[in-house]
Amino acid sequence: MTQTPADRYAQLRAEVAEHNRRYYEQDAPTVTDAEYDLLARELRALEAEHPEFVTADSPAQTVGGRPSTLFEKVRHPSPMTSLDNVFSDDELAHFDERVARALNLPLGQAFTYTCELKIDGLSINLYYVDGRLQWAATRGDGETGEKVTANIEGIPGIPRELPGLKGELEVRGEIYMSKAAFLAYNVKAEEEGRPLLKNPRNGAAGALRQKDPEETRRRGLEVILYALGKHDGVPVRTQWDVLLWLQTHGFATSTYSRHVTGSVAAAAYHAEMTAQRAALPFDADGTVIKLDDLALQAEAGFTSRAPKWAAAYKFPADVAQTVVQGISIQTGRTGKLTPVADLAPVQLEGTTVSRATLHNEDFIRGLDLRIGDTVRLHKSGGIIPEVLNVILEERPADSVPYAFPTHCPVCGHEAVRHEGAAGTFCTNPVCPAKSTLRVRYFASRDVMDIKGLGERLVEQLVASGLVKDPADLYALTAEQVEHLEMGETTTGSVRRVGKKNAEKLVAEIQASKSQELWRFIRALGLPFVGEGTSTRIARFYPSLTAVQEASADDLARIPDVGRQTAESIVAGLAEPDMQAFIARLFAAGIAPRPSEDVQAGEQLAGLTFVVTGTLSQSRELVKAHLQRYGGRVAGSVTKKTSFLVAGEDAGGKLEKANELKVPVLDEAGLNSLLEKRRAPSI
Ligand code: NAD
Repeated sequence: MTQTPADRYAQLRAEVAEHNRRYYEQDAPTVTDAEYDLLARELRALEAEHPEFVTADSPAQTVGGRPSTLFEKVRHPSPMTSLDNVFSDDELAHFDERVARALNLPLGQAFTYTCELKIDGLSINLYYVDGRLQWAATRGDGETGEKVTANIEGIPGIPRELPGLKGELEVRGEIYMSKAAFLAYNVKAEEEGRPLLKNPRNGAAGALRQKDPEETRRRGLEVILYALGKHDGVPVRTQWDVLLWLQTHGFATSTYSRHVTGSVAAAAYHAEMTAQRAALPFDADGTVIKLDDLALQAEAGFTSRAPKWAAAYKFPADVAQTVVQGISIQTGRTGKLTPVADLAPVQLEGTTVSRATLHNEDFIRGLDLRIGDTVRLHKSGGIIPEVLNVILEERPADSVPYAFPTHCPVCGHEAVRHEGAAGTFCTNPVCPAKSTLRVRYFASRDVMDIKGLGERLVEQLVASGLVKDPADLYALTAEQVEHLEMGETTTGSVRRVGKKNAEKLVAEIQASKSQELWRFIRALGLPFVGEGTSTRIARFYPSLTAVQEASADDLARIPDVGRQTAESIVAGLAEPDMQAFIARLFAAGIAPRPSEDVQAGEQLAGLTFVVTGTLSQSRELVKAHLQRYGGRVAGSVTKKTSFLVAGEDAGGKLEKANELKVPVLDEAGLNSLLEKRRAPSI
């Protein structure tokens, strides 16, 4: 039975709506943009042919997705629209003709266009009144967005004040993660056992639309501003003026924009950017060709979802086809087995690709990927090669489903799938792959900084059984190390460590026992704990033991340590393996040095106190003391109070604190908190 247009329409509409929900509301698309674009295009074509199908809530007539309930909603003073796509020079020429028709001008006009890169991030609206930033919001459904002002903190190129400006102003642009920031984030995330980002767009969207400002900062977001919404009193007549005005007023703008005459020149700009795409510092999914004259733009107007005076000219989806010659499994520091496809080398967006990560067992199963299969590949976010699908017609007749290993390929121990965590893990606590990577991580410059402990040496220490985990390093003697290999000479013969180097190395290892506390915290390899978090924690705790005793509430009070991080630290430290590891480090004689960079006045940052009752000093003196070290002092107890400091004869405030379950400290309790936070006692 063939499908009627109405059936096809209903099916497509549901499909596109579902993809929109996944993309805009969950930041978790399941198809590529090119695949989505094909579906959206067919939907629009059907609506053009059958206007009777169209309703106002059709995904072809609306913008974006529903704003999340996590954030306060805000109405954009003027709507934020989407863009209509074109995919070829011919379609761009048709767009140029449509512009002339919308303006009632003869065809063949050489319009002036501003050409820009279409940055693949997510749109932001910055709202100013009388030159002062009021809020920043996502596009949402175009009418109402999510207020994310706290999350744009620290992004360069967003002025808070625009001196001398009167009235309302909306500045629009794109928040994105550069390719370099994306790759650096994933390297660190892998190292710290946190989930990896899929592509820079997801990274930026996820960072902006979540509530942990620390996580947002960690992603190194950037912005490029390219448009004005409402703009009282800004002297601009063209889109090019807008870009110049933004640039001269301290907004981050793109250096890739161009002012051209005629659609042929716009097509040439697009071709030039297509050629440069792989080398761009950020991911772009096309160019945007905008009619330059703002008065003509106003005249041309908008459809329900996009301006008639602009076109998004999409880059071709670069997809390559190749054969999976094998699947290799790598065991990581956490013991996770990661499958990687070994591919017949193929060119993709300017580079030769011969490997692609297959993430985990579910990914392979989802594709039913088999060795010998021909697959289609693309670059996720313009960077990381990813298998899109298997071409079943090309499958060899004798192929068999891929059986994911049940044992670690490095040590042969059983590997188990963890419920909830997307992955299979080696169960051997002293698996050499894990051990080698853990010891290398422990010794690395950014962690314990043990000089002279190179990769080759670590491999041998582990292979010889001398070192199973980093705590074993402290028991090494120079005699044990001196005969090991540390590399090759220029003539290819083996270079051994030798007596002198061995003594030096052992001395380095011993000296690391008194490294700064933050390095030890980082060295534990807890999820979510990188350099930033370990440094912040070390500022507030004098010792590793104090960190072990801290509750999630305590840790979450440290500025910039989010709730999720705090909880995962407490859970990680409670793991029996972790406790045994820390105990072994202590038994080896480690003595972490308290961090030196505790800034005076920061020790109590983030804490709000209320002081009541009779203490050994006047309440005023106690309050001044708390304030001197960064605490806030409030007059009444609320849910936000961190501690009530209660002396003798405390009355109503104590009752209130008990009722609201606010922790109460007596003088001794306060002094012990001060000691933990490394501030003098009262
Ligand atoms: P769009 O991305 O096609 O175009 C509009 C957006 O482009 C604007 O809102 C703005 O944020 C951005 N933009 C970047 N640089 C710009 C510049 N220089 N000038 C003006 N705007 C610029 O429209 P959209 O509605 O955000 O999303 C549609 C696109 O999103 C589709 O083309 C598709 O590729 C992708 N999408 C994918 C899925 C999926 O499941 N994979 C689902 C929905 C949408």
